[in-house]
Amino acid sequence: MAKLFRTTSLAGRALRLAVVRIGFVALLGGVVSYFVNQSAIEESVIKQLLLSTEQTLQRESLPFKEIKDLERNFLREFQDIYTRPGHKAILVRDFDRFFYRHPDGSYTQRPDLFEGKALADGRQFAGMSATYAPDIPPNDDTKARFALSYILSHKYGSSAQGRLFNFYGVVPEKGFPIFQTSDVAQAFTYSGPDALKLETYEFYTRGFSAPDEDAFFTRMYWDVSNNAWMTTIATPDTPDTLGKHRMLACVDVLLAELMGRTARPSIQGAYSTIFLADAQGTLIYHPQFVGDIKSSEGTASIQSLRIASDYPLLQAMNALIPGKATILHTQENIIAMGMIPGTPWVLSVHYPRTLMAPDIYRNLAIVIVLGLMTLLVEVFLLRSILQKQVAIPLHRLIHATQRFGTSKERLDKDALPLESADEIGALAREFATMVERVQDGQSQLESKVQERTAELEAANRQLAELSVTDGLTGIANRRHFDRALELEWHRAQRAGTSLALAMVDVDWFKKYNDHYGHQAGDDCLRGVAQALKTQASRAGDLVARYGGEEFVFLSASTQVASALALAERLCAVVRALALSHALSPLDYVTVSVGIAVMEPAHGGSAEQLLKKADEALYQAKAQGRHQAVLAR
Ligand code: GH3
Ligand code: MG
Ligand code: MG
Repeated sequence: MAKLFRTTSLAGRALRLAVVRIGFVALLGGVVSYFVNQSAIEESVIKQLLLSTEQTLQRESLPFKEIKDLERNFLREFQDIYTRPGHKAILVRDFDRFFYRHPDGSYTQRPDLFEGKALADGRQFAGMSATYAPDIPPNDDTKARFALSYILSHKYGSSAQGRLFNFYGVVPEKGFPIFQTSDVAQAFTYSGPDALKLETYEFYTRGFSAPDEDAFFTRMYWDVSNNAWMTTIATPDTPDTLGKHRMLACVDVLLAELMGRTARPSIQGAYSTIFLADAQGTLIYHPQFVGDIKSSEGTASIQSLRIASDYPLLQAMNALIPGKATILHTQENIIAMGMIPGTPWVLSVHYPRTLMAPDIYRNLAIVIVLGLMTLLVEVFLLRSILQKQVAIPLHRLIHATQRFGTSKERLDKDALPLESADEIGALAREFATMVERVQDGQSQLESKVQERTAELEAANRQLAELSVTDGLTGIANRRHFDRALELEWHRAQRAGTSLALAMVDVDWFKKYNDHYGHQAGDDCLRGVAQALKTQASRAGDLVARYGGEEFVFLSASTQVASALALAERLCAVVRALALSHALSPLDYVTVSVGIAVMEPAHGGSAEQLLKKADEALYQAKAQGRHQAVLAR
């Protein structure tokens, strides 16, 4: 594998390219899937947030709508009875039946009424308690309103028993009848003039100074007697001509349940807060600041607690439509927020972005794993294809090429990837053909060189022979003779022996040529040469062609005494050939011979020996030819 990945190898490059390419695609796929996933997941989170938040807003608004309806009905019925002719006197009588005056001028209800003790007319007011402030003496109108409020508070409060907390219809003269769902009502029994300081309560001051008849919520407060978070929802009656209210319908709401539900949003991992839609974002509930809210007695706010991550909520608040959820994106959270209809409260559901991460990363991991698997499969396939079809055949080809380049042995065809059907196979086949052609050419060249060398050697041998041999007659040539004469001269000089030289010339040879033709003349010369050669039988004898139709006979062993005999034998052997010569007066081919003998040790020179022989020959010619003359 490592070998296949080598930088320089074709297959390695292809593989690396594949890895880079698929890696890039997988990475790109991962990035794209990351963003697609993120936005898809975010979209579904937003959808879910919007849906569940709006459901919550609607659901949480229901009890408050019921409370407001209850209060409005209370006020309507109050107005109805209060203005009924002749009813006031009945109500004033009721006042005296329900309440008794304390020495300080204050009134409280008869205690047994709370227990459910029936009046003489059979009416019961279980769960009710009532107090009237000592500082404002009641007149009949006040008494009538207070008594009616007592009756109706019991009616409306008990009708919603179990779902609401306290119900009370307050008169501005600080008459405070209240229906209570728990027996902590004992705490409201009169215990002195300071017990009923209604002017210190928000519902009282706001309710009786309100210019209109709209329901309102007080700030959340920690109710010590009930040990619970509460808020009061109050609705004043229609103001009279002087703009004054005569009745205020109030319901205390326990926020524990609302907080409990808020603390557990329907979306896993999310958390919710509730705050007042005021400038500071006064908190009703925030899971991370429960302690702060309690210790501040409900005045803690997003601003006062410096919850910077929630500041965007304050800015977005103004644009809210009750019951409709809006999405807000902050650094850490996706937030759905909306006003609970009929309340001054904003509910916000915070969905931490980190919750989306596992989903996103899981999808990303799937894409990356898929990419990697594709990469592995492709690399594996590509590798085996490249290995089998490219790398191995190429290596075989390279190896064969190297061997062909460095060794003399014939190409081993089995080592070549000739069977491959692809370009490498074609290349290998071409290579094999080329190698064969080159090797054939090489061996042809080699045998031709051998042939030429042999020819050259023969020619050289011939040339060497030719240099000492006469081409026409095959006996020694003039050069050979010159050298031999020189050598023999010196040898005879050193040895003190004699040296004989005969010059032989064919007679009437011009005529012979003229008559028989030049070719025949050549044949004649060859015959003469062979005849003369028969006489050179001893060591130191040499017959040579001296030029034209002239020959020489050098003999180291011939003395003066036998010289003439030798010369005559030369004449005789030629005549013995009996070659016809029509133009010769002698009828046959004959030669004339002049022979000279000298003793080199006694002086003279080889040239003198030649000259003497030539003179003797001249003499033989002059004396009639076909004879031998010994030089004197
Ligand atoms: P003489 O008896 O006085 O020697 O008369 P000759 O005709 O032999 O002498 P000459 O020197 O006048 O003529 C020599 C002739 O030999 C001339 C030439 O045609 C012939 N000859 C010389 N060399 C060759 C040869 O190699 N071949 C042939 N066919 N003829 C040759
Ligand atoms: Mg001659
Ligand atoms: Mg001659």
